[in-house]
Amino acid sequence: MSRHHISNDLRQKVVKRANFCCEYCLVPEAFLATVFHIEHIRSIKHGGKTLLNNLAYACPHCNQNKGSDVATFLNDESDELIRFFNPRIDVWHEHFEINEGEIVPKTNLAKVTIRILNINQIDRIIFRKALMDAGVY
Ligand SMILES: [Zn+2]
Repeated sequence: MSRHHISNDLRQKVVKRANFCCEYCLVPEAFLATVFHIEHIRSIKHGGKTLLNNLAYACPHCNQNKGSDVATFLNDESDELIRFFNPRIDVWHEHFEINEGEIVPKTNLAKVTIRILNINQIDRIIFRKALMDAGVY
């Protein structure tokens, strides 16, 4: 058992709070043939704790692309660091909207999150569009 072991009780709280959906791309776990991850919003590497208010439920695509990152530059001409979307303090629909399966940023925070988590990778857009057409997204 690692230092960062997540108890079954904590895991269940995170999953229920997320309503069984990825808290970044909103895809429901039921429609991805894979297990979702309990994710440290502020990674352990950057001082994040294994506590309910630092944990999120994330699909493997979002989680693996995020890795231990917490922020990035807006673009290659900017030195300004912009943190990623934090499901504990940010409201999803204030930062993102969905258009035909594509997740469209409303803010710079959303822009960098979409880029680093590779949220609009073409297969993921097609998958979300299919879920929308089926009325489950
Ligand atoms: Zn996701």
